[in-house]
Amino acid sequence: MFRTALAKTSLLRNAAVKSNLPSVAAYSAPAIPQPITQPDIPYTGIFINNEFHKSESGSQFPTVNPTTGEVITLVEEGDKADVEKAVKAARKAFALNSEWRQMDAYDRGQLLNKLANLMERDKVYLASLETLDNGKPYTNSYMADVELSIRNLRYFAGWADKIHGKTIPTDGPHFAYTRHEPIGVCAQIIPWNFPLLMQAWKFGPALATGNTVVMKLAEQTPLTGLYVAKLVAEAGFPPGVVNVIPGYGPTAGAALASHMDVDKVAFTGSTQIGHLIQQAAGASNLKRVTLELGGKSPNIIFKDADLDYAVEQAHFGLFFNQGQCCCAGSRIFVEDPIYDEFVERSVERAKIRKVGNPFDFTTEQGPQVDEEQMTKILGLIDSGKSEGAKMCVGGARHGDKGYFIEPTVFADVKDHMRIAREEIFGPVQQILKFSDVHELIERANNTEYGLAAAVFTKDLDKANLFAQGLRAGTVWINCYDVLNAQTPFGGYKMSGQGRENSEYALRNYYEVKCVITKMPSKNA
Ligand code: ADP
Repeated sequence: MFRTALAKTSLLRNAAVKSNLPSVAAYSAPAIPQPITQPDIPYTGIFINNEFHKSESGSQFPTVNPTTGEVITLVEEGDKADVEKAVKAARKAFALNSEWRQMDAYDRGQLLNKLANLMERDKVYLASLETLDNGKPYTNSYMADVELSIRNLRYFAGWADKIHGKTIPTDGPHFAYTRHEPIGVCAQIIPWNFPLLMQAWKFGPALATGNTVVMKLAEQTPLTGLYVAKLVAEAGFPPGVVNVIPGYGPTAGAALASHMDVDKVAFTGSTQIGHLIQQAAGASNLKRVTLELGGKSPNIIFKDADLDYAVEQAHFGLFFNQGQCCCAGSRIFVEDPIYDEFVERSVERAKIRKVGNPFDFTTEQGPQVDEEQMTKILGLIDSGKSEGAKMCVGGARHGDKGYFIEPTVFADVKDHMRIAREEIFGPVQQILKFSDVHELIERANNTEYGLAAAVFTKDLDKANLFAQGLRAGTVWINCYDVLNAQTPFGGYKMSGQGRENSEYALRNYYEVKCVITKMPSKNA
């Protein structure tokens, strides 16, 4: 996904050159329009029943521009009382005789398509606002975050009228069939690393299957999610179907996870909070739980791989989005004979990575999302140094304004070090060495996580061996970060439960009801 969208321009150019097509320009991707560097911010309230509300407590909280450290604006702070209001609205919208429940599935899909169309209309604004609030380069916001959010909604729009059960032969004179029914009121708690995309990943399957939603946005990045809420109303979703709460995790988030009238909670964030979500669900009403959590993904480079390509992919697989990806390839295992050269080239690549103003089209890396993350990453860099890894480049804060960190590469990393075990969520690359292939599968799997993995080799047998042996929800072969709306994404082990995207994501959002009818006897 990320790779596909970002690489489109150069891939198209290459295709044109290689096949001697008449005009390279004719096959170029459209130019990215200029951003709005100071976008207006009209929506900062709590979105319930298609309207923006003040918080019940009267509290607000600041959202900060990570490029400068300055407050962008104040946002209404949702808490337990606001969660109560939102859940009531979502429950009412889910009533059997409600407009939403009575709506044809086709029309439900059309509403999702309308939302996607409105995001397309406001693409420059949304990409600009995402960059302002999150710090990611505008080119990424435009080409990846907004574009892929739109595609995701359209993909799930198409599913709305294709969700159906089975007819089942039974013993005796009975007819049995299943209905795939929406679960009900779904709480959705999302993180700050891809605010728009995580919102789309969660809205799409929940709404296509006919649920109602109360979403809590991440406190670091509430602005684009609130703007999309306004587009939800503009698209014509009935009031109460989608409710969006800006606020903090231990207050608004916890109130949702433990709410007795919420039927399901879907969470994306840290494994640490994933534990709390599951505990809260267990201690309250056993609501259904899906989790998309952390990772420490192995990226394995064999000596027969195309070295230039593998270095670039490993760089992209780690540094993309300032390293703030749950599936970042943060344990790079390189085969002994090419290890030194791989390290050298990776260091050269990191040195030319352009860090700076995320609105500049040439910028590859913006700031980390906030001071807390920056401090945590710098602490892990220190641990790498003190545990004996070799820091080849970077390692410090970049500049003294905002939350930038220098692209950092560690060599001679050993499996037991903290930087090889803990999720860093920053621009810090760990390169480890291997020589024994069979031992490597064990080393790669020796982690509490299991979100993603990658292998770079020209040897099909090795690729297949690792595709089977790696315990991860995604295995990429000779590529990294290729994700589409059509392909499932999620974790083994402590990286989560359930899958996002694809047909598999729908399964997290419906109950299976079996209807068994007595048939007339043969002689009747
Ligand atoms: P990160 O460490 O990357 O910020 P978190 O897991 O803390 O990730 O946050 C992801 C989302 O979970 C955010 O929306 C955050 O507000 C929310 N959150 C944090 N703590 C809790 C909690 N105790 N209960 C519910 N949601 C929470």
